[in-house]
Amino acid sequence: MTGHTVVIAGAGPTGLMLAGELALAGVDVAIVERRTNQDLAGSRAGGLHSRTIEVLDQRGIADRFLSEGQMAQVAGFAGVSLDISDFPTRHNYGLGLWQKHIERILAGWVDELAVTIYRGREVTGIAQDDTGVDVELSDGESLRAAYLVGCDGGRSLVRKAAGIDFPGWDPTMSALIAQVEMAEKPAWGIHRNAFGIHSFGRTEYEIRDGEIIYMDKGPIGVMVTEEHVGPATEPTLQDLSEALIAACGTDYGVHSPTSISRFTDMTRQAAAYRKRRVLLAGDAAHVHAPDGGQGLNTGVQDAVNLGWKLAQVVKGISQESLLDTYHAERHPVAALVLRNTMASVALRRPDERMKAVRDTVAELLDADEPRQRFAAMMSGLGIHYDLGEGHPLLGRRMPDLDLLTANGPLRLFTLLHHARPVLLNLGEPGSFDITPWADRVQWIDAEYAGEWKLPALGAVVAPTAVIIRPDGYVAWVGEGTERGLAHALTTWFGPPAVV
Ligand SMILES: Cc1cc2nc3c(=O)[nH]c(=O)nc-3n(C[C@H](O)[C@H](O)[C@H](O)COP(=O)(O)OP(=O)(O)OC[C@H]3O[C@@H](n4cnc5c(N)ncnc54)[C@H](O)[C@@H]3O)c2cc1C
Repeated sequence: MTGHTVVIAGAGPTGLMLAGELALAGVDVAIVERRTNQDLAGSRAGGLHSRTIEVLDQRGIADRFLSEGQMAQVAGFAGVSLDISDFPTRHNYGLGLWQKHIERILAGWVDELAVTIYRGREVTGIAQDDTGVDVELSDGESLRAAYLVGCDGGRSLVRKAAGIDFPGWDPTMSALIAQVEMAEKPAWGIHRNAFGIHSFGRTEYEIRDGEIIYMDKGPIGVMVTEEHVGPATEPTLQDLSEALIAACGTDYGVHSPTSISRFTDMTRQAAAYRKRRVLLAGDAAHVHAPDGGQGLNTGVQDAVNLGWKLAQVVKGISQESLLDTYHAERHPVAALVLRNTMASVALRRPDERMKAVRDTVAELLDADEPRQRFAAMMSGLGIHYDLGEGHPLLGRRMPDLDLLTANGPLRLFTLLHHARPVLLNLGEPGSFDITPWADRVQWIDAEYAGEWKLPALGAVVAPTAVIIRPDGYVAWVGEGTERGLAHALTTWFGPPAVV
Protein backbone atom coordinates (compact mmCIF):
# COMPACT_ATOMS: atom_id res chain seq x y z
CA MET A 1 0.00 0.00 0.00
CA THR A 2 1.38 3.40 -0.99
CA GLY A 3 1.64 5.94 1.80
CA HIS A 4 1.49 9.72 1.90
CA THR A 5 1.39 11.97 4.93
CA VAL A 6 -1.73 13.73 3.65
CA VAL A 7 -4.14 12.57 0.95
CA ILE A 8 -6.59 15.04 -0.56
CA ALA A 9 -9.71 13.81 -2.35
CA GLY A 10 -10.46 16.14 -5.28
CA ALA A 11 -8.34 18.46 -7.41
CA GLY A 12 -10.85 21.29 -7.71
CA PRO A 13 -9.77 24.78 -6.63
CA THR A 14 -9.87 23.85 -2.93
CA GLY A 15 -7.87 20.62 -3.24
CA LEU A 16 -5.28 22.24 -5.49
CA MET A 17 -4.78 25.21 -3.16
CA LEU A 18 -4.47 22.93 -0.13
CA ALA A 19 -1.96 20.69 -1.91
CA GLY A 20 0.12 23.76 -2.76
CA GLU A 21 0.05 24.97 0.85
CA LEU A 22 1.12 21.57 2.21
CA ALA A 23 3.83 21.14 -0.41
CA LEU A 24 5.24 24.58 0.45
CA ALA A 25 5.52 23.40 4.04
CA GLY A 26 7.46 20.33 2.87
CA VAL A 27 4.67 17.82 3.58
CA ASP A 28 4.34 14.67 1.43
CA VAL A 29 0.87 15.26 -0.06
CA ALA A 30 -1.01 13.52 -2.84
CA ILE A 31 -4.33 14.27 -4.53
CA VAL A 32 -6.79 11.70 -5.87
CA GLU A 33 -8.91 13.16 -8.66
CA ARG A 34 -11.73 11.52 -10.59
CA ARG A 35 -11.17 13.60 -13.74
CA THR A 36 -8.42 12.41 -16.08
CA ASN A 37 -7.16 15.96 -16.60
CA GLN A 38 -7.84 19.46 -15.27
CA ASP A 39 -10.27 20.39 -18.09
CA LEU A 40 -13.62 21.65 -16.86
CA ALA A 41 -16.69 21.66 -19.06
CA GLY A 42 -18.99 24.62 -18.52
CA SER A 43 -18.61 27.82 -16.62
CA ARG A 44 -19.12 27.50 -12.85
CA ALA A 45 -17.27 30.24 -10.93
CA GLY A 46 -16.68 33.43 -12.83
CA GLY A 47 -13.90 35.00 -10.83
CA LEU A 48 -12.04 35.98 -7.71
CA HIS A 49 -12.81 38.42 -4.94
CA SER A 50 -10.28 40.83 -3.49
CA ARG A 51 -9.30 38.73 -0.46
CA THR A 52 -8.64 35.66 -2.61
CA ILE A 53 -6.41 37.76 -4.87
CA GLU A 54 -4.57 38.92 -1.73
CA VAL A 55 -4.19 35.33 -0.55
CA LEU A 56 -2.67 34.38 -3.92
CA ASP A 57 -0.47 37.46 -3.72
CA GLN A 58 0.76 36.26 -0.31
CA ARG A 59 2.17 33.23 -2.18
CA GLY A 60 3.59 35.31 -5.04
CA ILE A 61 1.21 33.91 -7.66
CA ALA A 62 -1.47 36.61 -8.01
CA ASP A 63 0.04 37.95 -11.24
CA ARG A 64 -0.57 34.64 -12.99
CA PHE A 65 -4.30 35.19 -12.48
CA LEU A 66 -4.35 38.96 -12.95
CA SER A 67 -2.59 38.70 -16.31
CA GLU A 68 -5.35 36.44 -17.68
CA GLY A 69 -8.47 37.95 -16.13
CA GLN A 70 -10.47 41.14 -16.26
CA MET A 71 -10.18 43.44 -13.25
CA ALA A 72 -13.55 44.87 -12.29
CA GLN A 73 -15.77 45.86 -9.39
CA VAL A 74 -17.40 42.45 -8.87
CA ALA A 75 -18.63 42.62 -5.26
CA GLY A 76 -22.37 43.00 -4.90
CA PHE A 77 -25.36 42.05 -2.82
CA ALA A 78 -28.94 41.48 -3.95
CA GLY A 79 -28.27 43.04 -7.33
CA VAL A 80 -26.53 46.11 -5.88
CA SER A 81 -22.95 46.57 -7.05
CA LEU A 82 -20.59 47.39 -4.17
CA ASP A 83 -17.59 49.40 -5.27
CA ILE A 84 -14.44 48.67 -3.24
CA SER A 85 -12.09 51.03 -5.08
CA ASP A 86 -11.73 53.15 -1.92
CA PHE A 87 -10.71 50.15 0.23
CA PRO A 88 -7.17 50.15 1.66
CA THR A 89 -5.80 47.17 -0.28
CA ARG A 90 -3.49 46.82 -3.27
CA HIS A 91 -6.26 44.78 -4.90
CA ASN A 92 -9.26 47.08 -4.53
CA TYR A 93 -11.18 45.18 -7.20
CA GLY A 94 -12.17 41.65 -8.17
CA LEU A 95 -11.21 39.58 -11.17
CA GLY A 96 -13.39 38.14 -13.93
CA LEU A 97 -11.80 34.78 -14.80
CA TRP A 98 -13.61 31.51 -15.49
CA GLN A 99 -13.06 28.61 -13.12
CA LYS A 100 -11.44 26.47 -15.83
CA HIS A 101 -8.65 29.05 -16.08
CA ILE A 102 -8.36 29.40 -12.29
CA GLU A 103 -7.99 25.62 -12.00
CA ARG A 104 -5.46 25.45 -14.85
CA ILE A 105 -3.28 28.13 -13.26
CA LEU A 106 -3.50 26.55 -9.80
CA ALA A 107 -2.67 23.13 -11.28
CA GLY A 108 0.41 24.66 -12.93
CA TRP A 109 1.59 26.00 -9.57
CA VAL A 110 0.95 22.66 -7.85
CA ASP A 111 2.93 20.91 -10.61
CA GLU A 112 5.92 23.15 -9.89
CA LEU A 113 5.70 22.08 -6.25
CA ALA A 114 5.89 18.44 -7.35
CA VAL A 115 2.64 17.23 -5.79
CA THR A 116 1.60 13.68 -6.75
CA ILE A 117 -1.82 13.62 -8.42
CA TYR A 118 -3.54 10.27 -9.01
CA ARG A 119 -5.81 11.23 -11.90
CA GLY A 120 -8.68 9.24 -13.35
CA ARG A 121 -9.24 7.57 -9.99
CA GLU A 122 -11.95 8.01 -7.40
CA VAL A 123 -11.94 7.69 -3.67
CA THR A 124 -14.51 4.94 -3.09
CA GLY A 125 -14.19 4.28 0.63
CA ILE A 126 -12.30 5.24 3.76
CA ALA A 127 -11.46 3.60 7.07
CA GLN A 128 -9.75 5.50 9.84
CA ASP A 129 -8.00 4.23 12.94
CA ASP A 130 -5.86 5.82 15.64
CA THR A 131 -2.80 6.31 13.44
CA GLY A 132 -4.17 7.08 10.00
CA VAL A 133 -6.70 6.59 7.24
CA ASP A 134 -6.94 3.89 4.56
CA VAL A 135 -8.24 5.43 1.36
CA GLU A 136 -9.76 2.99 -1.15
CA LEU A 137 -9.51 3.90 -4.80
CA SER A 138 -11.71 2.90 -7.73
CA ASP A 139 -8.86 0.94 -9.38
CA GLY A 140 -8.71 -1.44 -6.43
CA GLU A 141 -5.55 0.12 -4.98
CA SER A 142 -5.53 1.90 -1.66
CA LEU A 143 -3.48 4.65 -0.06
CA ARG A 144 -2.53 5.13 3.58
CA ALA A 145 -2.35 8.64 5.02
CA ALA A 146 -1.95 10.23 8.42
CA TYR A 147 -4.79 12.61 7.44
CA LEU A 148 -7.36 12.68 4.64
CA VAL A 149 -8.96 15.92 3.48
CA GLY A 150 -12.21 15.75 1.53
CA CYS A 151 -12.11 18.50 -1.11
CA ASP A 152 -14.41 16.38 -3.25
CA GLY A 153 -17.23 18.86 -3.80
CA GLY A 154 -20.83 19.19 -2.63
CA ARG A 155 -21.67 15.49 -2.99
CA SER A 156 -18.52 14.59 -1.03
CA LEU A 157 -18.03 10.88 -0.57
CA VAL A 158 -15.47 11.60 2.15
CA ARG A 159 -18.03 13.58 4.16
CA LYS A 160 -20.62 10.83 3.89
CA ALA A 161 -18.14 8.00 4.57
CA ALA A 162 -16.83 9.82 7.65
CA GLY A 163 -20.41 10.11 8.92
CA ILE A 164 -20.39 13.91 9.11
CA ASP A 165 -23.87 15.44 9.05
CA PHE A 166 -24.73 18.04 6.42
CA PRO A 167 -27.71 19.90 7.83
CA GLY A 168 -29.41 22.75 6.01
CA TRP A 169 -32.19 23.55 3.60
CA ASP A 170 -33.50 21.84 0.47
CA PRO A 171 -33.63 23.84 -2.75
CA THR A 172 -36.46 26.30 -3.45
CA MET A 173 -35.33 27.13 -6.99
CA SER A 174 -33.14 25.74 -9.74
CA ALA A 175 -31.58 27.11 -12.89
CA LEU A 176 -29.92 25.63 -15.93
CA ILE A 177 -26.54 26.92 -16.99
CA ALA A 178 -25.16 25.98 -20.37
CA GLN A 179 -22.74 26.77 -23.16
CA VAL A 180 -24.49 26.51 -26.50
CA GLU A 181 -24.94 27.84 -30.01
CA MET A 182 -28.14 29.66 -30.95
CA ALA A 183 -29.75 30.30 -34.35
CA GLU A 184 -31.09 33.68 -33.15
CA LYS A 185 -29.17 36.09 -30.98
CA PRO A 186 -30.92 36.89 -27.66
CA ALA A 187 -30.47 40.25 -25.95
CA TRP A 188 -27.22 40.05 -23.98
CA GLY A 189 -27.26 40.69 -20.25
CA ILE A 190 -29.41 39.82 -17.24
CA HIS A 191 -33.20 39.82 -17.56
CA ARG A 192 -35.93 39.32 -15.03
CA ASN A 193 -39.44 37.94 -15.42
CA ALA A 194 -42.10 36.00 -13.51
CA PHE A 195 -39.80 32.93 -13.09
CA GLY A 196 -36.80 34.89 -11.93
CA ILE A 197 -33.55 35.77 -13.63
CA HIS A 198 -32.20 34.60 -16.98
CA SER A 199 -29.12 35.80 -18.79
CA PHE A 200 -27.23 35.50 -22.06
CA GLY A 201 -23.72 36.46 -23.15
CA ARG A 202 -20.78 35.16 -25.13
CA THR A 203 -18.43 33.23 -22.85
CA GLU A 204 -15.53 35.34 -24.14
CA TYR A 205 -15.71 38.97 -23.05
CA GLU A 206 -13.72 42.01 -22.04
CA ILE A 207 -14.47 44.58 -19.37
CA ARG A 208 -13.91 48.15 -20.57
CA ASP A 209 -14.66 51.07 -18.26
CA GLY A 210 -16.72 48.74 -16.10
CA GLU A 211 -18.87 47.58 -19.05
CA ILE A 212 -18.91 43.96 -20.25
CA ILE A 213 -18.14 43.87 -23.99
CA TYR A 214 -18.97 40.46 -25.47
CA MET A 215 -16.95 39.09 -28.38
CA ASP A 216 -18.66 38.91 -31.78
CA LYS A 217 -18.24 35.15 -32.13
CA GLY A 218 -17.97 32.07 -29.96
CA PRO A 219 -20.16 29.98 -27.67
CA ILE A 220 -23.05 31.57 -25.80
CA GLY A 221 -23.40 31.20 -22.05
CA VAL A 222 -27.02 30.83 -20.93
CA MET A 223 -28.57 30.85 -17.48
CA VAL A 224 -32.29 30.29 -17.11
CA THR A 225 -34.39 29.84 -13.97
CA GLU A 226 -36.67 26.79 -14.17
CA GLU A 227 -40.38 26.98 -13.43
CA HIS A 228 -40.09 24.24 -10.79
CA VAL A 229 -37.07 22.84 -8.96
CA GLY A 230 -35.55 20.36 -11.45
CA PRO A 231 -34.62 16.73 -10.66
CA ALA A 232 -31.17 15.64 -9.49
CA THR A 233 -30.53 13.96 -12.87
CA GLU A 234 -28.26 15.51 -15.52
CA PRO A 235 -30.25 18.04 -17.59
CA THR A 236 -30.60 17.61 -21.38
CA LEU A 237 -30.85 19.94 -24.38
CA GLN A 238 -34.60 19.24 -24.35
CA ASP A 239 -34.82 20.48 -20.72
CA LEU A 240 -32.92 23.63 -21.67
CA SER A 241 -35.13 24.28 -24.69
CA GLU A 242 -38.29 23.84 -22.60
CA ALA A 243 -36.99 26.11 -19.82
CA LEU A 244 -36.11 28.81 -22.36
CA ILE A 245 -39.53 28.60 -24.03
CA ALA A 246 -41.25 28.81 -20.63
CA ALA A 247 -39.16 31.82 -19.52
CA CYS A 248 -38.65 33.68 -22.82
CA GLY A 249 -41.32 32.35 -25.19
CA THR A 250 -38.60 30.99 -27.52
CA ASP A 251 -35.52 28.79 -27.28
CA TYR A 252 -33.67 30.98 -29.81
CA GLY A 253 -32.94 27.85 -31.88
CA VAL A 254 -30.60 26.52 -29.19
CA HIS A 255 -28.28 23.73 -30.38
CA SER A 256 -24.81 22.16 -30.07
CA PRO A 257 -24.36 22.40 -26.28
CA THR A 258 -20.86 21.84 -24.94
CA SER A 259 -22.14 21.73 -21.37
CA ILE A 260 -25.48 21.85 -19.56
CA SER A 261 -25.78 21.71 -15.81
CA ARG A 262 -28.23 22.60 -13.10
CA PHE A 263 -27.61 24.57 -9.94
CA THR A 264 -29.97 25.13 -7.06
CA ASP A 265 -30.11 27.15 -3.90
CA MET A 266 -29.64 24.05 -1.73
CA THR A 267 -27.96 25.41 1.40
CA ARG A 268 -26.09 23.05 3.69
CA GLN A 269 -23.03 23.07 5.89
CA ALA A 270 -21.04 20.25 7.46
CA ALA A 271 -21.79 20.01 11.19
CA ALA A 272 -18.07 19.41 11.81
CA TYR A 273 -15.12 20.22 9.56
CA ARG A 274 -13.07 17.51 11.24
CA LYS A 275 -13.75 14.02 12.47
CA ARG A 276 -10.55 12.64 13.94
CA ARG A 277 -8.19 12.20 10.96
CA VAL A 278 -10.64 13.29 8.28
CA LEU A 279 -11.16 16.95 7.43
CA LEU A 280 -13.43 18.74 4.96
CA ALA A 281 -12.86 21.89 2.92
CA GLY A 282 -14.57 23.80 0.12
CA ASP A 283 -17.89 22.65 -1.32
CA ALA A 284 -17.52 19.37 0.60
CA ALA A 285 -18.06 21.48 3.74
CA HIS A 286 -20.60 24.02 2.45
CA VAL A 287 -23.00 24.43 -0.47
CA HIS A 288 -25.21 27.39 -1.27
CA ALA A 289 -26.59 29.40 -4.18
CA PRO A 290 -23.99 31.02 -6.43
CA ASP A 291 -25.21 34.54 -5.53
CA GLY A 292 -22.29 36.84 -4.88
CA GLY A 293 -19.77 34.39 -6.39
CA GLN A 294 -18.48 33.17 -3.05
CA GLY A 295 -18.12 29.37 -3.28
CA LEU A 296 -14.73 29.00 -4.91
CA ASN A 297 -13.36 31.92 -2.93
CA THR A 298 -14.49 30.40 0.37
CA GLY A 299 -12.98 27.02 -0.58
CA VAL A 300 -9.60 28.48 -1.53
CA GLN A 301 -9.51 30.40 1.74
CA ASP A 302 -10.51 27.28 3.73
CA ALA A 303 -7.46 25.62 2.19
CA VAL A 304 -5.16 28.48 3.18
CA ASN A 305 -6.48 28.40 6.76
CA LEU A 306 -6.04 24.62 7.04
CA GLY A 307 -2.78 24.06 5.13
CA TRP A 308 -0.23 25.46 7.58
CA LYS A 309 -2.07 24.09 10.61
CA LEU A 310 -2.18 20.56 9.21
CA ALA A 311 1.48 20.87 8.16
CA GLN A 312 2.51 21.81 11.71
CA VAL A 313 0.51 18.95 13.20
CA VAL A 314 1.92 16.26 10.90
CA LYS A 315 5.44 17.59 11.50
CA GLY A 316 4.90 17.30 15.25
CA ILE A 317 5.34 21.06 15.79
CA SER A 318 1.81 21.53 17.12
CA GLN A 319 -0.71 19.44 18.98
CA GLU A 320 -3.69 18.01 17.09
CA SER A 321 -5.88 20.54 18.89
CA LEU A 322 -4.58 23.22 16.49
CA LEU A 323 -6.81 21.56 13.88
CA ASP A 324 -9.87 22.46 15.96
CA THR A 325 -9.16 26.12 15.27
CA TYR A 326 -9.79 25.34 11.58
CA HIS A 327 -13.45 24.52 12.30
CA ALA A 328 -13.72 27.30 14.88
CA GLU A 329 -12.49 29.92 12.38
CA ARG A 330 -13.85 28.73 9.06
CA HIS A 331 -17.29 27.36 10.03
CA PRO A 332 -18.60 30.84 10.97
CA VAL A 333 -17.19 32.32 7.73
CA ALA A 334 -19.15 29.87 5.56
CA ALA A 335 -22.22 30.17 7.84
CA LEU A 336 -22.27 33.86 6.95
CA VAL A 337 -21.96 33.00 3.25
CA LEU A 338 -24.93 30.64 3.65
CA ARG A 339 -26.90 33.41 5.32
CA ASN A 340 -26.15 36.06 2.73
CA THR A 341 -26.86 33.73 -0.21
CA MET A 342 -30.20 32.70 1.31
CA ALA A 343 -31.07 36.35 1.79
CA SER A 344 -30.01 37.13 -1.77
CA VAL A 345 -32.12 34.31 -3.25
CA ALA A 346 -35.14 35.47 -1.25
CA LEU A 347 -34.58 39.06 -2.36
CA ARG A 348 -34.52 38.16 -6.04
CA ARG A 349 -37.90 36.42 -5.93
CA PRO A 350 -40.00 37.88 -8.69
CA ASP A 351 -42.92 39.34 -6.80
CA GLU A 352 -43.83 42.97 -6.28
CA ARG A 353 -43.49 42.88 -2.51
CA MET A 354 -40.03 41.37 -2.79
CA LYS A 355 -39.17 44.03 -5.32
CA ALA A 356 -40.15 46.60 -2.70
CA VAL A 357 -37.80 44.94 -0.16
CA ARG A 358 -35.06 44.77 -2.80
CA ASP A 359 -35.44 48.47 -3.58
CA THR A 360 -35.33 49.26 0.14
CA VAL A 361 -32.14 47.22 0.63
CA ALA A 362 -30.61 48.94 -2.42
CA GLU A 363 -31.39 52.30 -0.86
CA LEU A 364 -29.76 51.27 2.43
CA LEU A 365 -26.65 50.04 0.59
CA ASP A 366 -26.36 53.41 -1.05
CA ALA A 367 -25.30 54.89 2.30
CA ASP A 368 -21.57 54.66 2.84
CA GLU A 369 -21.36 52.73 6.12
CA PRO A 370 -23.61 49.82 5.03
CA ARG A 371 -21.95 49.80 1.59
CA GLN A 372 -18.52 49.41 3.18
CA ARG A 373 -19.71 46.78 5.64
CA PHE A 374 -21.38 44.63 2.96
CA ALA A 375 -18.51 45.16 0.51
CA ALA A 376 -16.06 43.94 3.18
CA MET A 377 -18.25 40.86 3.71
CA MET A 378 -18.71 40.02 0.02
CA SER A 379 -15.06 40.65 -0.94
CA GLY A 380 -13.73 38.60 2.00
CA LEU A 381 -11.70 41.56 3.26
CA GLY A 382 -13.83 41.85 6.38
CA ILE A 383 -13.11 38.34 7.70
CA HIS A 384 -12.42 38.46 11.43
CA TYR A 385 -11.40 35.32 13.28
CA ASP A 386 -12.30 35.46 16.94
CA LEU A 387 -8.88 35.42 18.61
CA GLY A 388 -10.09 37.26 21.68
CA GLU A 389 -10.27 40.86 22.78
CA GLY A 390 -7.66 43.33 21.73
CA HIS A 391 -6.38 45.58 18.98
CA PRO A 392 -8.65 45.64 15.88
CA LEU A 393 -5.92 43.92 13.83
CA LEU A 394 -6.11 40.79 15.99
CA GLY A 395 -7.73 38.01 13.90
CA ARG A 396 -7.95 40.24 10.84
CA ARG A 397 -5.95 40.18 7.58
CA MET A 398 -2.57 41.85 7.70
CA PRO A 399 -2.39 44.65 5.13
CA ASP A 400 0.31 44.40 2.46
CA LEU A 401 2.42 47.25 3.81
CA ASP A 402 5.32 48.90 2.03
CA LEU A 403 8.06 48.35 4.61
CA LEU A 404 11.52 49.78 4.88
CA THR A 405 14.14 47.32 6.15
CA ALA A 406 17.91 47.45 6.62
CA ASN A 407 18.12 45.74 3.21
CA GLY A 408 15.86 48.25 1.49
CA PRO A 409 12.14 48.48 0.68
CA LEU A 410 10.04 45.35 1.03
CA ARG A 411 6.38 44.49 0.42
CA LEU A 412 5.01 42.67 3.43
CA PHE A 413 3.33 39.92 1.39
CA THR A 414 6.78 38.94 0.06
CA LEU A 415 7.51 37.63 3.56
CA LEU A 416 4.62 35.17 3.23
CA HIS A 417 5.64 33.61 -0.10
CA HIS A 418 6.92 30.45 1.60
CA ALA A 419 3.94 30.24 3.98
CA ARG A 420 6.07 30.78 7.09
CA PRO A 421 4.94 32.89 10.06
CA VAL A 422 6.43 36.33 10.64
CA LEU A 423 7.18 38.44 13.69
CA LEU A 424 7.28 41.97 12.34
CA ASN A 425 8.95 44.39 14.71
CA LEU A 426 8.17 48.01 13.95
CA GLY A 427 9.62 49.35 17.20
CA GLU A 428 13.20 49.55 18.44
CA PRO A 429 15.26 47.14 16.25
CA GLY A 430 16.29 43.94 17.99
CA SER A 431 13.91 44.51 20.90
CA PHE A 432 12.51 40.95 20.89
CA ASP A 433 14.15 37.65 21.56
CA ILE A 434 12.30 34.82 19.87
CA THR A 435 15.28 32.47 19.69
CA PRO A 436 13.24 29.46 20.96
CA TRP A 437 10.92 29.83 17.92
CA ALA A 438 13.54 31.02 15.41
CA ASP A 439 13.43 27.66 13.58
CA ARG A 440 9.74 28.26 12.75
CA VAL A 441 9.10 31.99 12.82
CA GLN A 442 10.78 34.63 10.65
CA TRP A 443 11.68 37.75 12.49
CA ILE A 444 12.11 41.08 10.79
CA ASP A 445 12.82 44.64 11.96
CA ALA A 446 11.23 47.24 9.71
CA GLU A 447 9.85 50.74 9.54
CA TYR A 448 6.47 51.67 8.19
CA ALA A 449 5.65 55.31 7.63
CA GLY A 450 2.16 55.03 6.14
CA GLU A 451 -1.33 54.97 7.62
CA TRP A 452 -2.87 51.94 9.32
CA LYS A 453 -6.28 51.45 7.74
CA LEU A 454 -8.57 48.44 7.57
CA PRO A 455 -11.46 47.86 5.12
CA ALA A 456 -14.77 49.11 6.55
CA LEU A 457 -13.14 49.90 9.93
CA GLY A 458 -10.95 52.77 8.80
CA ALA A 459 -7.91 54.02 10.71
CA VAL A 460 -6.54 51.93 13.60
CA VAL A 461 -3.79 52.67 16.10
CA ALA A 462 -0.34 51.75 14.77
CA PRO A 463 1.01 48.62 16.52
CA THR A 464 4.66 48.31 17.53
CA ALA A 465 4.85 44.66 16.45
CA VAL A 466 2.63 41.95 14.97
CA ILE A 467 2.74 38.21 14.51
CA ILE A 468 1.41 37.24 11.11
CA ARG A 469 0.30 33.65 10.59
CA PRO A 470 1.15 31.90 7.29
CA ASP A 471 -2.44 32.54 6.11
CA GLY A 472 -1.91 36.29 6.52
CA TYR A 473 -4.05 36.79 9.65
CA VAL A 474 -2.71 38.63 12.68
CA ALA A 475 -2.19 36.35 15.71
CA TRP A 476 -0.74 38.91 18.13
CA VAL A 477 -0.42 42.67 18.28
CA GLY A 478 2.32 44.39 20.25
CA GLU A 479 1.42 47.73 21.72
CA GLY A 480 4.73 48.76 23.23
CA THR A 481 5.29 45.64 25.34
CA GLU A 482 5.92 41.92 24.88
CA ARG A 483 2.78 41.03 26.83
CA GLY A 484 1.22 37.84 25.42
CA LEU A 485 3.99 37.27 22.86
CA ALA A 486 5.34 33.95 24.18
CA HIS A 487 1.79 32.69 24.72
CA ALA A 488 0.79 33.57 21.16
CA LEU A 489 3.92 31.98 19.71
CA THR A 490 3.26 28.78 21.68
CA THR A 491 -0.44 28.71 20.82
CA TRP A 492 0.09 29.07 17.09
CA PHE A 493 3.56 27.71 16.39
CA GLY A 494 4.19 25.19 19.14
CA PRO A 495 6.19 25.16 22.38
CA PRO A 496 9.59 26.86 22.57
CA ALA A 497 12.55 24.79 21.44
CA VAL A 498 15.14 24.08 24.12
CA VAL A 499 18.10 26.20 23.04
C1 LIG B 1 -23.37 28.14 -11.77
C2 LIG B 1 -22.31 28.31 -10.77
C3 LIG B 1 -21.72 29.55 -10.64
C4 LIG B 1 -20.73 29.72 -9.67
N1 LIG B 1 -20.16 30.95 -9.56
C5 LIG B 1 -19.20 31.14 -8.63
C6 LIG B 1 -18.49 32.38 -8.54
O1 LIG B 1 -18.70 33.32 -9.33
N2 LIG B 1 -17.55 32.53 -7.57
C7 LIG B 1 -17.25 31.51 -6.71
O2 LIG B 1 -16.39 31.72 -5.83
N3 LIG B 1 -17.87 30.32 -6.80
C8 LIG B 1 -18.83 30.10 -7.74
N4 LIG B 1 -19.41 28.88 -7.85
C9 LIG B 1 -19.05 27.82 -6.92
C10 LIG B 1 -17.76 27.10 -7.32
O3 LIG B 1 -17.86 26.54 -8.60
C11 LIG B 1 -17.49 26.03 -6.26
O4 LIG B 1 -17.66 26.57 -4.99
C12 LIG B 1 -16.05 25.49 -6.39
O5 LIG B 1 -15.88 24.75 -7.57
C13 LIG B 1 -15.73 24.61 -5.20
O6 LIG B 1 -14.45 24.10 -5.34
P1 LIG B 1 -14.08 22.74 -4.63
O7 LIG B 1 -12.67 22.47 -5.05
O8 LIG B 1 -14.41 22.82 -3.20
O9 LIG B 1 -15.07 21.66 -5.26
P2 LIG B 1 -15.23 21.19 -6.77
O10 LIG B 1 -14.88 22.28 -7.72
O11 LIG B 1 -16.57 20.57 -6.88
O12 LIG B 1 -14.10 20.10 -6.94
C14 LIG B 1 -14.24 18.80 -6.42
C15 LIG B 1 -13.29 17.90 -7.18
O13 LIG B 1 -13.33 16.61 -6.60
C16 LIG B 1 -13.44 15.64 -7.62
N5 LIG B 1 -14.11 14.49 -6.99
C17 LIG B 1 -15.38 14.41 -6.56
N6 LIG B 1 -15.60 13.24 -5.96
C18 LIG B 1 -14.44 12.56 -6.00
C19 LIG B 1 -14.04 11.29 -5.51
N7 LIG B 1 -14.87 10.48 -4.85
N8 LIG B 1 -12.76 10.91 -5.73
C20 LIG B 1 -11.87 11.74 -6.38
N9 LIG B 1 -12.21 12.94 -6.86
C21 LIG B 1 -13.48 13.36 -6.65
C22 LIG B 1 -14.20 16.31 -8.71
O14 LIG B 1 -13.96 15.70 -9.97
C23 LIG B 1 -13.67 17.73 -8.64
O15 LIG B 1 -12.55 17.93 -9.44
C24 LIG B 1 -20.38 28.66 -8.81
C25 LIG B 1 -20.96 27.41 -8.97
C26 LIG B 1 -21.92 27.23 -9.92
C27 LIG B 1 -22.54 25.89 -10.08
